[in-house]
Amino acid sequence: MNVLVLGDQLTTQVGPLADATPGEDRVVLVESSGFARRKRYHPHKLVLVFAAMRHFRDRLRDRGFDVDYHRVDSFETGFREYLREHPDEDLATMRSASHGSGEALVETFSTARDAVAEDDIADATADPSARLLVRENETFLCSPSEFDDWAGGDDGEMPESFRHETFYRWMRERTGVLVDDGDPVGGEWNFDDENREFPRPEETFPEPPDHGVRDDPVVREVADWVAQEFETWPNVDDGDVIVDGEEGEGETPGDGAGLAPFRWPVTREGALAELAAFVSERLPAFGPYQDAMVERSWHLNHSLLSPAVNLGLLSSRECIDAAVDAYEDPDAPAVDVASVEGFVRQLLGWREFVRHVYRHRMPEMTEANELDATEDLPELYWSGDTDMACMASAVGHVRERGYAHHIERLMLLSNFATTYGADPQELNRWFHLGFVDAYHWVTTPNVVGMGTFASPALSTKPYVSSANYVGKMSDHCANCAYDPDETVGEDACPFNALYWDFLAEHEDRLRSNHRMGLVYSHVDRKRENDDLAAVRERASEIRELGASGDL
Ligand code: FAD
Repeated sequence: MNVLVLGDQLTTQVGPLADATPGEDRVVLVESSGFARRKRYHPHKLVLVFAAMRHFRDRLRDRGFDVDYHRVDSFETGFREYLREHPDEDLATMRSASHGSGEALVETFSTARDAVAEDDIADATADPSARLLVRENETFLCSPSEFDDWAGGDDGEMPESFRHETFYRWMRERTGVLVDDGDPVGGEWNFDDENREFPRPEETFPEPPDHGVRDDPVVREVADWVAQEFETWPNVDDGDVIVDGEEGEGETPGDGAGLAPFRWPVTREGALAELAAFVSERLPAFGPYQDAMVERSWHLNHSLLSPAVNLGLLSSRECIDAAVDAYEDPDAPAVDVASVEGFVRQLLGWREFVRHVYRHRMPEMTEANELDATEDLPELYWSGDTDMACMASAVGHVRERGYAHHIERLMLLSNFATTYGADPQELNRWFHLGFVDAYHWVTTPNVVGMGTFASPALSTKPYVSSANYVGKMSDHCANCAYDPDETVGEDACPFNALYWDFLAEHEDRLRSNHRMGLVYSHVDRKRENDDLAAVRERASEIRELGASGDL
C-alpha cells in the first residue's frame, strides 16, 4: 500500500510507514507552500518544517523507498499529480492531531480525484479509483479510546472539565514510568513544589549545541527559498540572516532584535543529538529552575525538544526513556528525582492531556472567550518594542528563534494578554505565527485553555499574576524602567494595575472559585481603602499606551 506522510509525522516508527516495504510500497509527501503564503509565519518555522520534510524524503530514498515528493501550492494540486501517475493505487495515512484535518484531507483527495476524472474524459483514459485511507494517529502515548475510557469512568459520561493530575497519575501507572511496585519513584507522584527555585547569579546554563545545522545544504537551500518567496514575521526575510546572522542584532532583545542563526534540528540524527545534549548537560538542573526566567539565558535548562517531537523526528516515549535511563544510571551526572519527574510530567502528562482536551473541546475552542476579552493585542507583541524588560525579553526570544520557554509563554506572554483583556483568539493566532513548535492541536488548548482561561476545560482558574510573580521568578525587574512595587503612576509596572483591574472586572465570574478566595480578600481591602478606582484608571491608561505602542 502506498503511504502518504504528513509533514508533522516524519517517523518510521509507527503508522502505515512502519508497515511499508522499501522497493514495494511508494511513499508520498506533499510540500504545500500555500499555508506559508496565507500568513506571516516566523521564518525559522518555515525553514524547520520544509527542511525536515526534504531530509525525511532523502532518508527514505536512502532506505530504498520510491518517494514521490510533490512541491506544490496546495494538497489538492499534490493529490492531482499523484492521481495522474497512480490512478488506482490507494494511499494510507495517519490522521493529524488537528481538528477535522483527516476528514478535510479525504475531501481534498476526492475533489482532486473528480478533477482528474474530468481531465481524463478529455484524455480518454480510465477514471481514477484510488482512495485515501486515514487511520488513527499513532504518534501519541494515549489513544482517543483509551483516554475516553479513562475520562468517561464507569458510566462513560464525559466530565465538564478534565483534571491533569489524575490523568497524569493514571498515565504513570499504566506505562510504569517512574513507578516501582505500584508506588511512585521518590515517594511522590509530583515534585512541582520543588521546581520553583531561582538560580544564584553564578549559576550557568550550558548553551545547547547547534549540531552544525547551518552548514546543512538542505537548510541553506530552504532558507534562501523562504527568504525569497514568503513574507514572514518579524519582517526579517534575508536568507543569509536565517543561516549566518549574528545573535540578537537589535540593541536589546525585542528592541528590533534580529533573527538568531537558525538552530533547530531538521533530521532524526540532529534530534537525537538534541535529546542527548539535554539529558547529559541540562536535565540534572532542569527541575529546580523550570519556572525561572533570567536575562542571561534564553532557554535555562529547558529541553528545546518540542519542535522535533511535534514533527515526529523524536517520539515522546524515547525522550522519556532517555531521561529515566539517565536518572537510573549511576555513572551519569546525577539527576535528581524532581528533575526527571518534572520532565516526564510534561511529556507523559501535559502533552497527551492537552491533545485530548482539545479533541473534546473542538470546535468550540476556536471561538471560546469565557471572559469576553476583546482588546486588540498590544502593539509590543508585534514590534517587540517596550520598556517592560520582561516582555521585551520574552517577545525578543520569540522574534529571535520562534521559541520562548514555558513560563515565559504562560506567566509573561499569556498573563499580560489576559489581564490586558486581549482577545484570546488573536493571541492564539499570534502564537501560531511566532513559534516553531506551533500546531493547532497543541497551541490552541495551551493558549485558549491554559494561558488565557478563555475555555475553562483545562484549568480551574486563570494563570494571572502581578509583578510580584515576575519579581520573584525572574531578574528582569532589576533592569526595568517600571517599578514593580508601584501600582499607580506612570512608572508603575503595568502588570500590577492590570492584575487588580482584571480581578475587579471578572469578580462575578471568579470570586466564587474557592482557589481565589485569598486574592479577593486583597481586592476587598483595596476597595475599602478607596484604592481600586485609581488602579482601574491606570489600567485604562495602560491599554491606551499598549494600543499606541508606547508601553
Ligand atoms: P520543556 O519544558 O523541556 O518540556 C518538555 C516537553 O514537554 C516539551 O518539549 C513538550 O513536548 C512537552 N510539553 C510541556 N508542556 C506542554 C504543554 N503544556 N503542552 C504540550 N506539550 C508540553 N507547546 C508546543 O509544543 N507547541 C505550542 O505551540 C505551544 N504553545 C504554548 C502556548 C502557551 C500559552 C503555553 C502556556 C504553552 C505552550 N506550549 C506549546 C507548551 C510548552 O510551553 C512547550 O511545549 C514548551 O515550552 C516547549 O519547550 P521545551 O521543548 O523546551 O519544553
